[in-house]
Amino acid sequence: KHLKLIVTGGAGYIGSVCTARLLEAGHEVVVVDDLSTGHADAVPEGARFLEGDAADATAQLLGEGKAEFDGVLHFAAKSLVGESMQDPGKYWRGNVFTAIRLLDVLREHGVGRLVFSSTAATYGEPEQALIPETAPTRPTNTYGATKLAIDHAITSYAQAHGLAAVSLRYFNVAGAYGSYGERHTTETHLIPIVLQVATGDRARVQIYGDDYPTDDGTAIRDYIHVTDLADAHLLALTHARPGEHRIYNLGNGTGFSVRQVIETCREVTGHAIPAVVAPRRAGDPAILVASSEAAREELGWKPESTDLHGIVADAWRFTQERQQG
Ligand code: UDP
Repeated sequence: KHLKLIVTGGAGYIGSVCTARLLEAGHEVVVVDDLSTGHADAVPEGARFLEGDAADATAQLLGEGKAEFDGVLHFAAKSLVGESMQDPGKYWRGNVFTAIRLLDVLREHGVGRLVFSSTAATYGEPEQALIPETAPTRPTNTYGATKLAIDHAITSYAQAHGLAAVSLRYFNVAGAYGSYGERHTTETHLIPIVLQVATGDRARVQIYGDDYPTDDGTAIRDYIHVTDLADAHLLALTHARPGEHRIYNLGNGTGFSVRQVIETCREVTGHAIPAVVAPRRAGDPAILVASSEAAREELGWKPESTDLHGIVADAWRFTQERQQG
């Protein structure tokens, strides 16, 4: 069925890829983004774009009353872990306060469906090798704490007001889709940083700790292709049920170490990519790998691009195309 949707944060990395996939699936999308970290030229062609705060601009769209919207996908957020520790107010206001205002706007206008970008950072230091949705949520940074607070708020709104909500907890999102990929001004993520060494924009990559209790001593993460992630959002939209707030982890279920990622980037780019060992980054757990059993069973989701080589190759193609303008 054709849906009319609002995508907040649709000028950002994951939001733009999801918008592109939603449009291809035949849905109608209005992107709302304040361009604080997103790029206007990343909004996919075919989507209407309204610049502004996620809650205010959504209220404006719903107030126009031209057509009913079927749902909102809320991607807009502050997402730098380090910054969240230095300037927590920016995260509590920018993430939590904005989300509560958005929930009130949806309620006021009777919009029934919400898909929210949550994160593995809600779990903190894991107790199990594969993290299920039932794992304890003890975030080790403010960013994760704000996303967890929003998840709790969504649960209450769903119970009290009948919202049909799904939170998707992303592990390490990577790769690119067509002309949509990672373009952060402040880049903190491993794969884009390593690729900056291959393009010559950075001299070397720092490995944050090689004394973790893993085979090669470097931290292990679960890298998921952004298109697989986007497809889970389409499934979440159709599986959302009034009065329920479902939460699903999204990852490949396979972990790769920092050294394995760097080695894969060397193979893909043919560049030597010098690496030096640096101290651990505060709050970085040794291993974060998702159990995505629930998403597979309940949403019928199946990640297709699980091979790290393919994920890095897509990110590299995107990086090179942007360099060539
Ligand atoms: N990492 C690293 N060097 C970098 C950036 C990241 O060694 O320049 C490590 C980081 O400590 C973590 C992994 O790479 O173990 C993935 O980090 P990223 O910031 O991409 O995602 P996170 O897992 O923190 O969400």
